[in-house]
Amino acid sequence: MSHPSESSGASPFPSAGAAARHPQDGEGVQEFDLFVIGAGSGGVRCARVAAQLGARVGIVERSHWGGTCVNLGCVPKKLMFYAAETGRAIADGPSYGWNVPLPEFDWPHFQKGKDAEITRLDGIYVSMLQKAGVTLFEGEAQLQGAQTIEIGPSALDPTRKPQRIRARHIVLATGSTPTRIDFPGSELCITSDQVFHLQAQPRRLAVIGGGYIGVEFSGAFRGFGSEVAISYRSAHVLRHFDDELRLRLEELMDLAGIHRHPHTLPRSLERMPDGLRLTLDDGTELAADQVIMAVGRHPAIAGLGLEKAGVRTEKGRVLVNSAFETNVPGIYAIGDISDKYNLTPTAIAEGQLLAERLYAPQGRYWDFNQVPRAVFYASPLATVGLSEQEAAVDHDLLIYTSSFTPMRQVMPHRPGKAFMKLVVDEKSDVILGAHMIGPEAADIIQIMAVAVVNGLTKTQLDHTLALHPTTAEEFVTMRTPTRRVAKGTVEALG
Ligand code: NDP
Repeated sequence: MSHPSESSGASPFPSAGAAARHPQDGEGVQEFDLFVIGAGSGGVRCARVAAQLGARVGIVERSHWGGTCVNLGCVPKKLMFYAAETGRAIADGPSYGWNVPLPEFDWPHFQKGKDAEITRLDGIYVSMLQKAGVTLFEGEAQLQGAQTIEIGPSALDPTRKPQRIRARHIVLATGSTPTRIDFPGSELCITSDQVFHLQAQPRRLAVIGGGYIGVEFSGAFRGFGSEVAISYRSAHVLRHFDDELRLRLEELMDLAGIHRHPHTLPRSLERMPDGLRLTLDDGTELAADQVIMAVGRHPAIAGLGLEKAGVRTEKGRVLVNSAFETNVPGIYAIGDISDKYNLTPTAIAEGQLLAERLYAPQGRYWDFNQVPRAVFYASPLATVGLSEQEAAVDHDLLIYTSSFTPMRQVMPHRPGKAFMKLVVDEKSDVILGAHMIGPEAADIIQIMAVAVVNGLTKTQLDHTLALHPTTAEEFVTMRTPTRRVAKGTVEALG
């Protein structure tokens, strides 16, 4: 496979190929019970489940089978995280008796392996759909009316002839796309879409935005040895997380040598003889080889023909009710296009629920109010339920915390503490939130989510014996509250 270039625009990803397309491609009108636009996490699940339940299903994809998560998001990001983590393990090696010198990180080699893995996963998505009996189309879909779609050429199939589709149910699952802000030179910024295709590792990286993507890329590239600076407009990173965790994360970023620039906005970006110069509105000048803009994502609705079908939008997102129905009967929207949760597992759950609502007597139930979330910084941060500042609005609280040096860091003298926190309703003893920053935080919080989502009490956690020696055991061994917090007394960081 050729190595993808950030400037070529050519798709490095496999196509479902001619075999995947319908034999009557480009001719007449094809009829389906359900047709999905967008083969990302949500769309694929919806199509596959509906087909398995007996519906005649078609799906169209314009750029990447598997969508953002597999191609330009969760999967390559997690592989980057592992690559950086491996570097840290090698650096710790001598203290554990492995006398290996720390080698240079080989970005092109990593990219090659990462691309091969993504190609493999894309192939799995295609074959899963085919095995379920779904008809696959490659091209750009546009609504023509409530039940009609036209598929034209796209990057995946630039020569395709227009194709008409008629379907009783149409599911919009086109996901989201990186948002760009405008300032002099902003066109020189790359977004997460390009980062995964960079040919060279930026030795000096500047990041704009202190959200999920900004924090995750900062951690990964710092792990690869790059100089990293991050600029964000608020006082602190990760606005939607527990305040105490955010502060802990910032301490770890400082320890890692990441240069944080809170309360700043980009003023200008210029090309210099030796790279780029990002000037912030406080006058700081940052020299960089690449500048990543990570200021959020917005629903991918451009060119979808929503106006032709009369689908209502608000602030750029498709409006849906709790059954994923838009205002147009027979047209539904799932995943990031409706801008509700914007996470892979919620899109998958929505896709499954919709398919089951349409074609199965009884659908399943998921609690969308308590979605576990993680940010894969070098020391990951994960959370489920209410943060302290959220919970304190309506509850008197008992806060349990534990802060410690993870055992694996002790012999190498690697600094940085893990931190775990339970937010408990004082009156009912119910655990309202569980939060962690530290090794394996995401995996540990996934299991803690079972307790929080099911309304378990702190006493029930206390009845659970520890599994020793682990990090997770701290969640069942916190005996004494760190503090009591009276309702309405917490001032959020903002
Ligand atoms: P986020 O919403 O997480 O963060 C956006 C950042 O950009 C914030 O620091 C925000 O500041 C700032 N910002 C927003 N608008 C502007 C502006 N006009 N000017 C300057 N700064 C601005 O977005 P990301 O791009 O990091 O990620 C997009 C989404 O992708 C996430 O929300 C999440 O849904 C998903 N995602 C999930 C991951 C995971 O589950 N691990 C990983 C990566 C992405 P402020 O805080 O002040 O609003």
